[in-house]
Amino acid sequence: MSDLEPRPSPHLLGGLGPVAPRPVLDLLPGKTVTLGERMQVRRLLPTLGRRMVGPWAFVDHYGPDDVAGTDGMQVIPHPHTGLQTVSWLIEGRVHHKDSLGSDVSFGPGELALMTAGHGISHSEQSPVPHPRLLQGAQLWVALPDASRDTAPAFEHHAALPGFSSDGLTATVLMGSLGGATSPGTAWSPMVGVDLALEAGADVEVPLEPGFEHAVLASSGSSVVEGAPVEHGSMLYLGTGRRTLRVSASAPSRLLLLGGEPFEEQIVMWWNFVGREGDEVAGFREQWEAGERFGHVEGFEDGERTPAPPMPPVPLKPRGRER
Ligand code: MN
Repeated sequence: MSDLEPRPSPHLLGGLGPVAPRPVLDLLPGKTVTLGERMQVRRLLPTLGRRMVGPWAFVDHYGPDDVAGTDGMQVIPHPHTGLQTVSWLIEGRVHHKDSLGSDVSFGPGELALMTAGHGISHSEQSPVPHPRLLQGAQLWVALPDASRDTAPAFEHHAALPGFSSDGLTATVLMGSLGGATSPGTAWSPMVGVDLALEAGADVEVPLEPGFEHAVLASSGSSVVEGAPVEHGSMLYLGTGRRTLRVSASAPSRLLLLGGEPFEEQIVMWWNFVGREGDEVAGFREQWEAGERFGHVEGFEDGERTPAPPMPPVPLKPRGRER
């Protein structure tokens, strides 16, 4: 998906400063952002209170939206650099096309993982016809410096590993949990797991204590370490946890996100992750000039998302001011 805010703010992310060095319970209600003309999403990261969780730098949650009789999701070609997009549907169906020639439709339980690396452009649209309800999460992972210029790639994993116990069904999108490892390519130590809870489930999930973690209530409401997490909100968990107790009184879903604290400082603006403002401004100019990001088949030359205006202040990561 694209950050379609007309004047997106620059975000200076990363570094160990904001990482809680111990377990915490910090509820992030998120904020509502309107994308394009109709679609509303809840933005959980980055927010004022929290910028990253491990390498996870951007978390939008949307729906359930009734898209019957509408054209649903319509995100026309737009660029990315220096990140991975992780698309995860709870309900509905999305048709992905990109400048590598990928042309894939995916649904709930399937991982659509795009490594932007050096640069890619893509579109995401509801297919015709499409299911009535649309609900899911759009997540971005920042790539570490050593791999952020890697060749772009798209992976579609229709079947993912996982495990079940005591009313919990875990599906591993990224990294490993409970002995199950995702086939998705990860560029830094991380985890992303869908936790589906049956009514009355009360279970402990193993965690990597060196990771920073958070959970997003992607469907319904759950209780995490005694704290209620309402649908569409996120609970930041800090570091140093070996287990996580999750329970639910009604069927619900959580998205567990985590990873090694992201030590590098990054600049994120619009759909780009870079290291300095000038670099990001350069990506913007290349997109506007039709360079670097290729072409998505099936769209006219002018049928693309224009870059918003660059903010006037040059962006530099914190702590690197000269
Ligand atoms: Mn996108």
